[in-house]
Amino acid sequence: MNEDTIAAIATALGEGSIAVVRVSGPEAINSVAKLFRSKLDLREAASHTVQYGWIIDPQSDRRIDEVLVTVMKGPRSFTAEDVVEISTHGGIVAVKSVLELVLRHGVRLAEPGEFTKRAFLNGRIDLAQAEAVIDLIRSKSDRAFQVARRQAEGAVSKKIFPLRQQLIELIAHVEVNIDYPEHDVEDVTAELIRSNCRQVREEVNELLQRSNEGKILREGIVTAIVGRPNAGKSSLLNALARENKAIVTDIPGTTRDIVEESVSLSGIPLRLLDTAGIRETEDIVEQIGVERSHGALNDADLILLVLNRHEELHEDERKLLQQLKDRSTIIVVNKIDLPERLDTAEIERDYPSERIVYLSAKEGQGIEQLERAVTGMFFSGAVESGDITYVSNTRHITLLHQTRQSLEDAIQATFEGVPIDLIQIDITASWESLGQILGDAAGDSLLDQIFSQFCLGK
Ligand code: GDP
Ligand code: ZN
Repeated sequence: MNEDTIAAIATALGEGSIAVVRVSGPEAINSVAKLFRSKLDLREAASHTVQYGWIIDPQSDRRIDEVLVTVMKGPRSFTAEDVVEISTHGGIVAVKSVLELVLRHGVRLAEPGEFTKRAFLNGRIDLAQAEAVIDLIRSKSDRAFQVARRQAEGAVSKKIFPLRQQLIELIAHVEVNIDYPEHDVEDVTAELIRSNCRQVREEVNELLQRSNEGKILREGIVTAIVGRPNAGKSSLLNALARENKAIVTDIPGTTRDIVEESVSLSGIPLRLLDTAGIRETEDIVEQIGVERSHGALNDADLILLVLNRHEELHEDERKLLQQLKDRSTIIVVNKIDLPERLDTAEIERDYPSERIVYLSAKEGQGIEQLERAVTGMFFSGAVESGDITYVSNTRHITLLHQTRQSLEDAIQATFEGVPIDLIQIDITASWESLGQILGDAAGDSLLDQIFSQFCLGK
């Protein structure tokens, strides 16, 4: 069990009606109890019950937010530790204040994926499931942890488990033949190895294929860059990607297609879509691009609305500003290297300052502020960052490749008259690499496994 207690925002940031701060660890209940005023002391609350009350700063006695608090005592919780979930009002302010208060009371900020990691370390889920949870959270920025968890329950594990079972049975059979050579069933054994290894190899191939499809699901936060022609959308995408993938021109409306680029901002994976300028247009080619960008706008998890500070606010932009107010939108006021013609007061009235960024895509000035605004929006655990998942996926794929290689070696060896006990090593290796996907420290447990499952009458 972990010594320290961790917390993070478990729901997506944005303007939802509620947001959840999740606290997990031995001090979860105690820490929150100090900040929570309700009829019942939280320490007295039964597990899996919800309490109504207020989060209060105990130093100033200031009321922070009216909340519902759920207590889930370990091991019957996601992490298998004591978990407290505080449902606050939606929007970043309430949830951030509550989180910050919790963090001042003996709780530290969770690392990306740490709740899931704990669930694994505490034996609540296997490694593949843990990885699936992280994947799911990465793939949909606005999904709550609970949903991801349910979906992650054993997709890969359920596939791998029967394959391991089949290999274990094969190993057991082969073991019998090694130990009782007088049975003299070499040929039968070779055939048995071939057919079983081939079956498992087919399944592994399928998993490998699916793992490629899985990449599409792990696309990151879909981020649409929108704005009028010439505002600097492509330039912004280029500045962020630091690569010249989109064509930048001086003629308005020349970015006709959506151009994509995946970037990682402080570990947050973004899939950037540069869209054609949003406006009514006669040009049929451009029209298609405009329609596509409206689609991209609806699907986007995050929107970067690019405005040209060198020009007055256009009617289209005014509409967009209104339309996007309730979405996760960051206003990018571009071209600050040129004289100011845009009256930003109008924007500042409708959008909080942390959602407005002033920059020059051309000169690269202010890009860091944008990065900060994006990461701020997905503050602390709302979106789990990439590294763990990326390595994990590579890990799965590598292990599946290893499994396939060992199986192929075993199959090949049966044709070459290699002694059975040597072929056994390859089969065992494939069993072990599959086990590593589930987080099994396979080596030592192999024999135990065989002999606990199969009574060979010895
Ligand atoms: P888009 O149509 O919104 O994609 O705009 P582009 O990125 O193609 O840029 C349109 C024009 O504005 C190009 O000539 C860019 O070089 C120029 N531009 C973009 N960003 C800036 C900036 O920050 N400062 C200046 N001075 N020019 C910029
Ligand atoms: Zn463009």
